[in-house]
Amino acid sequence: PERGTPLLRIDKVRKQFGGLVAVNDVSFEIKAGEIVGLIGPNGAGKSTTFNLITGIASLSGGGVAYAGQTLSGLSPREIAKHGVARTFQHAKILPDMSVLENVALGAHLRGSAGVFRSILRLERKEEATLLTEAARQIERVGLGQYRDRPAGDLALGQIRILEIARALAADPTLLLLDEPAAGLRHGEKQELSNLLKKLRSEGVSVLLVEHDMGFVMGLVDNLVVLDFGTLIAQGKPQEVRKHPAVIAAYLGG
Ligand code: ADP
Ligand code: MG
Repeated sequence: PERGTPLLRIDKVRKQFGGLVAVNDVSFEIKAGEIVGLIGPNGAGKSTTFNLITGIASLSGGGVAYAGQTLSGLSPREIAKHGVARTFQHAKILPDMSVLENVALGAHLRGSAGVFRSILRLERKEEATLLTEAARQIERVGLGQYRDRPAGDLALGQIRILEIARALAADPTLLLLDEPAAGLRHGEKQELSNLLKKLRSEGVSVLLVEHDMGFVMGLVDNLVVLDFGTLIAQGKPQEVRKHPAVIAAYLGG
């Protein structure tokens, strides 16, 4: 999609868990080529919003459209095929497998090959294609030198980048990252920020949940702020941070 055209449209999206409204009629848009930050206190509904976009949770109301096509009601696999990929708040890497195998396995799980049949039962050609694609993404994110090392040997910042490589193996145009900088050292955050800017320049749009305001401010083109499931502000980071409701709900809290 051409830079600046509407890509993801969230329209009055709603999620209720029994009597709890976790996401309350939230609407926002991501344009192609943008990095958008989704922020708000714990329990604000950020991860649930990701689950609604990626089909892991079902909508209680509203709709999600991507590049003009509806995603509402599609399975996570179908949504991934539309070009939307994600990472999870809590990493699920296989520490004894190599970086390459971790990325290839992730690519296979969300790829077009159907149900997971285990790496061992793949056709040789299929496996070769997966490994080639995984190796390409590992180079792309700058983890080339760790390709054959056990994933468990990596530092936390490198594991977060491995997860991004795994998501990239599905060749997405939009990447959803749930707290990618949580627990990282300053230098690791810097590297992550540089990687996301590089991906943006390559045409990958990003929606990220993040708590570290310093990290977010230096990176995102736009911010969306949730509080108790409700969108309380959105816009350029410099404007949003001055918003009284944002200061009260988040920055001042
Ligand atoms: P955030 O990611 O912003 O911290 P979440 O989206 O994880 O917030 O959660 C939003 C609210 O929804 C919280 O009150 C949380 O306890 C609740 N919630 C999330 N997932 C579920 C679930 N599967 N069942 C019941 N309540 C949930
Ligand atoms: Mg969360």
